[in-house]
Amino acid sequence: MEMHQCQVCGKLFASSGPRICPACIKRLDRVYEKARGYLRDNPNANLNAKELAEAIDEDVLDIEVLIAEGRFERDLSSDLEDIRRQQLLSEFQKSLSKTEAALKAQQEQKRTTYGKDRHGKGIA
Ligand SMILES: [Zn+2]
Repeated sequence: MEMHQCQVCGKLFASSGPRICPACIKRLDRVYEKARGYLRDNPNANLNAKELAEAIDEDVLDIEVLIAEGRFERDLSSDLEDIRRQQLLSEFQKSLSKTEAALKAQQEQKRTTYGKDRHGKGIA
């Protein structure tokens, strides 16, 4: 078996196929069931990835991995009407690109803040 780096947590693990480690798959399955249940119970909720994560009290990154993996796309068709599903999925996609931008901005900021802190009064 080859060693792969987990796409979610970055750990190396032996795998013949999947790029996500068993621990993350297990967690993602649980998060997914929770998210799916929530969407089923709240068919009119207009949520993006972050709001959904908050609603079910899970990590937004896990939600995003599930979205990126196309999990919701596959299964929501049996739970929700087409129009609702399209709305939700496009909202998810939007929040995905926003998150990417936000992450990048955060990294940039960290770099600048770090520089300032070193010469400034230090961090609280
Ligand atoms: Zn992992």
